Amino acid sequence: MPEGDTIHHAANRIRPVLAGRVPEQIVTPQRRHERDRWPERLAGRAVEAVEARGKHLLVRFDGDLVLHSHLRMTGAWDVHAVGERWRRARSRAWLVLRAGGQEVVQFDGPLLELITTSRARTDPRLRDLGQDVIGERFDEAMLLRRIREDDPTRPLGDALIDQRTIAGIGNIWKSECCFAAAADPWKPLARTRDEEIVAAVRFARERMAQSARDGYEARPRAVYARAGERCPRCGERIRAAGQGDGNRSTYWCAGCQR
Ligand SMILES: [Zn+2]
Repeated sequence: MPEGDTIHHAANRIRPVLAGRVPEQIVTPQRRHERDRWPERLAGRAVEAVEARGKHLLVRFDGDLVLHSHLRMTGAWDVHAVGERWRRARSRAWLVLRAGGQEVVQFDGPLLELITTSRARTDPRLRDLGQDVIGERFDEAMLLRRIREDDPTRPLGDALIDQRTIAGIGNIWKSECCFAAAADPWKPLARTRDEEIVAAVRFARERMAQSARDGYEARPRAVYARAGERCPRCGERIRAAGQGDGNRSTYWCAGCQR
């Protein structure tokens, strides 16, 4: 499931292929993109930058055009040498950008659009994003201000996946960082101490940066998707339940997360 570390990892792989280059070929195989004419609109334009912002990926072209993608639950980016076997079926590709003997492919992305730079600045989905959890500069005081402006009855776990508060954390990292901080994800913000929030987010920042660099294998798996197994810290059974408006899966140990 793509969270901020996955998107940064993808951007880190895509950047050396595309940045500073004019793609030699651009293909949009899905019928829904037939009339968008992206190959024509992007022809001859160089890629200026490849950016991850929370769970969003932006490919900026010269001439103020931006490819904006969000993978939600199903999508994936991949980079292969031309001719190499693809990780998913060809029929599931939405976008193929070819440059320097490599292909950058987006599969199954529920959100893929070509927008102008000014639209990318003002679109609420991008404009309202909180600080990127993996950003090099991160202001903990600003994060705490945002959290304290939130509804004090909101559970900690639900607050941490609000992309306007902090961008990039999803169900996996929410569960793991609350566990690392020994903080109960069901505890309302009013009863959550600043130190617990900071400890959870520092864990997420450090470990997500590592996973962005090294890939999935670097992700911790203490509680996520381990319902019914023994807690590695106290031996109680790990629990799972849906949380918040989106009924988002949360895993925690009631024995040692308070
Ligand atoms: Zn425990």
